[in-house]
Amino acid sequence: MAAPLPREVDIVVIGAGAAGIAAARRIAAAGRSVVVIEAAPRIGGRCRTDPALFGVPFDRGAHALYNPDGNPLVKLARGNGFDIAPATASQKIRIGRRNARAGEAEDFLTALVRANRAIDEAARGKADVACAAALPNDLGDWAATVDFVLGPSVTGKELRDLSAMDRARMQERGAAIVCRQGLGALLTRLGGGIPISLGTPATRVAWSNRDVAVDTPAGKIVARAAIVTVSTHVLASGRIAFAPDLPKRQFDAASGLGLGSYDRIALQMDGNPLGLGRDENIIERSKDARTALLVANLGGSSLCTVDVAGKFGADLSAQGEDAMVAFAREWLGGLFGSDAVAKIERSLATRWNADALIGGAMSAATPGAEGGRRLLGEPFGNVFIAGEATHETLYGTVEGAWASGEHAADAALKKIGPAKPPPPQKKPRAKKRHAH
Ligand SMILES: Cc1cc2nc3c(=O)[nH]c(=O)nc-3n(C[C@H](O)[C@H](O)[C@H](O)COP(=O)(O)OP(=O)(O)OC[C@H]3O[C@@H](n4cnc5c(N)ncnc54)[C@H](O)[C@@H]3O)c2cc1C
Repeated sequence: MAAPLPREVDIVVIGAGAAGIAAARRIAAAGRSVVVIEAAPRIGGRCRTDPALFGVPFDRGAHALYNPDGNPLVKLARGNGFDIAPATASQKIRIGRRNARAGEAEDFLTALVRANRAIDEAARGKADVACAAALPNDLGDWAATVDFVLGPSVTGKELRDLSAMDRARMQERGAAIVCRQGLGALLTRLGGGIPISLGTPATRVAWSNRDVAVDTPAGKIVARAAIVTVSTHVLASGRIAFAPDLPKRQFDAASGLGLGSYDRIALQMDGNPLGLGRDENIIERSKDARTALLVANLGGSSLCTVDVAGKFGADLSAQGEDAMVAFAREWLGGLFGSDAVAKIERSLATRWNADALIGGAMSAATPGAEGGRRLLGEPFGNVFIAGEATHETLYGTVEGAWASGEHAADAALKKIGPAKPPPPQKKPRAKKRHAH
């Protein structure tokens, strides 16, 4: 609901991504006044659906929901009439122009299990180390693929740049669920009933233990509390001034939880020239980090994405969309032949690192920064930080962002206390009756 900026509310929420929408719904449900201020001209943040370009909705950001049994967004999607379906779990490994043989796929899985165990074991040590330092050094031909699968493809960062303790805490993602209309469209619907002021960046947050004042180009809002849901990149960039300063604990935590890089290169290829199934995932046995994840025939459509991530993905996206599409063509050509690639009719590449309001894909803790998620979520004065980065096990997901928003809303509501009962209404004085 587009809203003029109120001058005063109970709680102001900064950012209308998953965390901000979840927080605002919770506050509104508790009967308190709330406004969400969002710098972008749209709702959704890292959930953004392009409805028209390819004839089918395309999620530029988050695409899958996980943990269908416990994920509240799956229930909300169903309840709001969105089409929800499990994504096919099938994943194949290519070795050059052929599929990996059963024995090779088994070798890869063994390498993956060993690497995962080694990271878990390192995480039980006293000091945090980089995941890469924990890896067995005999992963042979599979070393680069294991790195990609455990690092960039889920966190946006290489294993050498990732905290083992933080990585070991990440909850198994479980079965993936996709939403035909797109997750950006879902968040837009879920934000429908709450007052949201779009194109309204917070520029300064003056805070104390009593109240908060947020400056925006459209005016100042005074509130009893604020929930800040911007990405760790935005928080650490200093683009929002805090007065007093953002406490050092939170600043250091946000800096240690910088965003990894993950982008999607979408290719429309009519006639299924790759000969793959619906939502099928393909990775390759790669020699180095110059690799990608293919997600084919999204939701049964003719749309495929070549996902690039980590340092390689970041360097590629810095070169621009043309270079990204050229890489996707070359990479796919190497795995499926140039005839298949000739069928690409339309393409688009996301560049999340270049989006100043986000600055990357998902938070990933650098070695030594493992405790940062808890610290980041600790309130200061009447300010509560939420967002995917503050969730200790579901970070980097929409579900984690949503849960963090609800959690921050509960904490803020508790802090401001119950609503003051309305002043008692004066009873109208009974008219004196005059005795006759
Ligand atoms: C390419 C990609 C693929 C992904 N895939 C998946 C997936 O398949 N499944 C999954 O679960 N997760 C996935 N994720 C992660 C998921 O998208 C995020 O974890 C989640 O959406 C983050 O939500 P959030 O509310 O924490 O932050 P955001 O969505 O970043 O919301 C923060 C909001 O704050 C706004 N903002 C910034 N500065 C200001 C300011 N000064 N004033 C006001 N507003 C401001 C921003 O515009 C933004 O809307 C993916 C992410 C990317 C980028």
